[in-house]
Amino acid sequence: MEPLIFERSIPGRRGYVPPPNDVPPSDPSAFIPPDQLRATAATWPEVAEVDVIRHYTRLSQLNYSIDTHFYPLGSCTMKHNPRVNERVAALPGFSWLHPLQPAAHTQGILQLLHELEQLLCAITGMAAFTLQPAAGAQGELTGLKIMAAYHRRQQRHRSTILIPDSAHGTNPASAALSGFSVVQLPSGPDGLIDVRELKARLTGDVAGLMLTNPNTLGLFERDIKTIAALLHEQEALVYMDGANMNALLGVARPGDMGIDILQLNLHKTFSTPHGGGGPGAGPVGVTSTLADLLPLPRVRQRGKSLVWQEEGTASVGRVHGFYGNVGVLVRAYTYIRSLGRDGLSRASRVAIINANYLKTKLQEICPVPYDRACLHEFVATMKAVRAHGVNAWDVAKRLLDYGCYAPTVYFPLIVEEALMIEPTETESKETLDQFAQALGQIIAEVRSDPEMVRHAPHRLPVNRLDDVKAAREPNLRWRPGRSPNWATAGQR
Ligand SMILES: *Cc1c(COP(=O)(O)O)cnc(C)c1O
Repeated sequence: MEPLIFERSIPGRRGYVPPPNDVPPSDPSAFIPPDQLRATAATWPEVAEVDVIRHYTRLSQLNYSIDTHFYPLGSCTMKHNPRVNERVAALPGFSWLHPLQPAAHTQGILQLLHELEQLLCAITGMAAFTLQPAAGAQGELTGLKIMAAYHRRQQRHRSTILIPDSAHGTNPASAALSGFSVVQLPSGPDGLIDVRELKARLTGDVAGLMLTNPNTLGLFERDIKTIAALLHEQEALVYMDGANMNALLGVARPGDMGIDILQLNLHKTFSTPHGGGGPGAGPVGVTSTLADLLPLPRVRQRGKSLVWQEEGTASVGRVHGFYGNVGVLVRAYTYIRSLGRDGLSRASRVAIINANYLKTKLQEICPVPYDRACLHEFVATMKAVRAHGVNAWDVAKRLLDYGCYAPTVYFPLIVEEALMIEPTETESKETLDQFAQALGQIIAEVRSDPEMVRHAPHRLPVNRLDDVKAAREPNLRWRPGRSPNWATAGQR
């Protein structure tokens, strides 16, 4: 176990020794109110530079990462980020920019952002994009604000949003935050939107439908055109959660399916790294009717130059400081330009083949309840292990012992003991075979030694965490002689 950096401290040991101070000391209370001054000096670890480097390098190696391990819920958690993206984002012309530099000095990045918007339009078939939102969820919120502003402009009172029961939790949350009430749509027996159920709920109060395509079961909404036409007949809009675009690049365009508004998750589909909560990017695309409602500022062409459009009476307003997470946007742009039209289309096709290969390979050990040819992901059920007192959670934790990151479990809610699997396009057949073998061994262990599986993981620096306690009573402080929660959490 790696000790805390404080435990490595040796009084007097130094990393850096600055030259002696030749500025006369002054009284800090002349600048800082006395009640805000600390009474005793902070205790810092006293360590050499080499101690710091080794400590943090070792800590970084205790973590799972996409650079060291297979992630069975690929693009959603993290997919491989080609290193050319990092090379481009690190170019001084991008990395040294200041957001307050005037447009005349920043034509290069404005060109990139403008082109990225156009590339996203070409990929999705939408008419215009904003790159501001910092995540998928913020994109949803922005999109629903646009939907609300549209109905207001049409002087229509619409207060409900229809959302399928297979939706990601952020969908109803975004609808509620935008002031809508949510009506749940039960999925049909095939796991798709049931058109009859939709018709029964399509009242004059519906502002729009919020769907995910392919849906969270990895299934394409076959009736999407009929569904969109039904909504449009009622003068309601169709919002598409585009988090699953990994299946559609160069294959199908939401704009051609009758979608009015969608968000993309650049940190999923377009491979930009996202860990520990960010940063991400959730650009929102709309039809031409809705373009003037997009957040401001927007990058516009004026003569030969690009400028920021700051004014616009219809816009829903600003949703992020400056212009979003620009470093992420540079990476996504590089990803798109380096793969090109054919490369993107191949990426989606290979992602689909990989998912279907693994689904077929796993058929014997983990059945898939909505079992049809899937797109980029599928959802298996671990119901069978319950007879041994084990659940999907335990199986996912045991996968960590086999060198696989734990996939998402218990989502979508319509599959019992759900295990969600998305191998992505960059994983080889050998990696997929190893994963299938690991899962097979775990199922055998469930029968021979369920107690062991129930307490997994066993081979990691820490074993099963008490995640409820960690969330409810986070203890992030270290005091001499007291270990933080995570070291003592032990087995459940
Ligand atoms: C990941 C995801 C979201 C939320 O996106 P964030 O970028 O994490 O905010 C919404 N819907 C679906 C289907 C997702 O997979």
